[in-house]
Amino acid sequence: MDNKHTINGSKLRLLFVTSEAYPLVKTGGLGDVSYALPNALRQLGLDARLLLPGYPTVLEQLSLVEVHENIRFYPLQNPLRLLVGTMPGGITPVYVIECPELYERDGGPYQDSSGTDWEDNALRFGILSKVAALFGDHNLLFKPDIIHCNDWQTGLVPAFLKFNPKSRAQTVMSIHNMAYQGLFGTEVINLFGLPPESFSIFGLEYYGKVSFLKAGLFYADWITTVSPTYAKDIQTAEYGCGFEGLLTQRNQQLTGIVNGIDTNVWDPKTDTYISHSYDVKNLPAKFRNTQALRKKLKLPQLKNAPLIGMITRLTEQKGIDLVLPIIPDILKTGAQMAILGSGDKNFEKRLQALAALYPNKLSVTIGYNEELSHQIEAGANIFLMPSKFEPCGLNQMYSMRYGTVPIVRRTGGLADTVIDATPENIKKQIATGFVFETKSSTELLACLHRALQSFRNKKTWRQLQINGMKRDFSWHTSAKQYVSVYESLIV
Ligand code: ADP
Repeated sequence: MDNKHTINGSKLRLLFVTSEAYPLVKTGGLGDVSYALPNALRQLGLDARLLLPGYPTVLEQLSLVEVHENIRFYPLQNPLRLLVGTMPGGITPVYVIECPELYERDGGPYQDSSGTDWEDNALRFGILSKVAALFGDHNLLFKPDIIHCNDWQTGLVPAFLKFNPKSRAQTVMSIHNMAYQGLFGTEVINLFGLPPESFSIFGLEYYGKVSFLKAGLFYADWITTVSPTYAKDIQTAEYGCGFEGLLTQRNQQLTGIVNGIDTNVWDPKTDTYISHSYDVKNLPAKFRNTQALRKKLKLPQLKNAPLIGMITRLTEQKGIDLVLPIIPDILKTGAQMAILGSGDKNFEKRLQALAALYPNKLSVTIGYNEELSHQIEAGANIFLMPSKFEPCGLNQMYSMRYGTVPIVRRTGGLADTVIDATPENIKKQIATGFVFETKSSTELLACLHRALQSFRNKKTWRQLQINGMKRDFSWHTSAKQYVSVYESLIV
């Protein structure tokens, strides 16, 4: 343990506020980060703790004790309780807001089971932010030096603290995805007692609405995002989602730090979801996972055919619309495909129709399935991730760790983590995948052909797998960069 990270002799105290955290509740990469980063920070000697809404899955999985009761917020009918437990399998204390009227309902954290946003999301996440701000006032037992906020759901925290003279904590706002901005009506200003002057272009106003994300970006003491390339991307009109001006103005307080991955959860040597464990020294055993995956997905056992995997939210962001038109061409090469995803109903239907057309070549599983996601990472030879934009991306790193060579578009975190298999990079033994430039199906297909050519050369392919498997994607390095940001704010 590194005990350097102290202020006046005591550990740096950090409250990590988030709307999801694996394994309690997860819809995407933020869930993974919220589990792994606080853990890694604690291993570096910080007193990092989580704050999370009390969704049913959170209350069920944690054994919780009450730490504060009777916290009242207008306009809630009933007072809240603050409970505390410990992350399953981890070491991080988790504060949970028990508020049945906001969080205890069927459906997802942001949407109901039909995929519609909860109508009261402004209130649900405004209250999450209010409770975080109470910690910032040092009104509760835990008195954080830094409050680390994540995405729009926590964007009001920096605004609440900025307008509160009693505030004691510094704020960091992390962007995991700019595309979700938390836009709500102006009634939010009164609802949460924000001063009228906050509703301005120099504040949280965005084209006549209130943006929770903009509140965070404008009022936070520091901004981070999840890769250096995405930090640059979001200062441009193409990727800034309208906030490029603000981010350019604040670029001296904007840092890009690549996410790590949880190397315990994602380790082909110890992964309990997969049928045959393997590592870099025992790479041929990977093939048994390919066989097991084919069997599970009812794909024929073709000897030399590559199996291409894709695990994704089915949204335009992930480039599924680039993949769909070329699926027949991909299958014509002799490759098989295993796709796991859920999201846009139109994409789901189109994929299912193609799977019905090519039952021996294409397997499509609609839904969210943690176990199958591990089995695809272990069983596939190639992983497709042709995102239009990608703040960091985790699956390309999981893939490299599992010896599954990724094909990615050069954007955001994909550009920062995958090294293209150019002849030069192959020669230097640093190549880990295949990278293409423009948002085009034709370019993606050409890149895939390039990958298939290498796949047929067993020696080159093995080297690509080994290069990827040897990369260090642990959180340790990234967590240290976050510590530097926190320390710069409190000295
Ligand atoms: P994003 O957060 O934009 O969805 P990331 O690549 O950063 O993308 O993280 C996605 C995470 O969610 C990964 O852990 C991935 O394995 C997981 N995931 C996405 N879709 C599914 C699914 N249908 N089933 C299981 N896991 C999924």
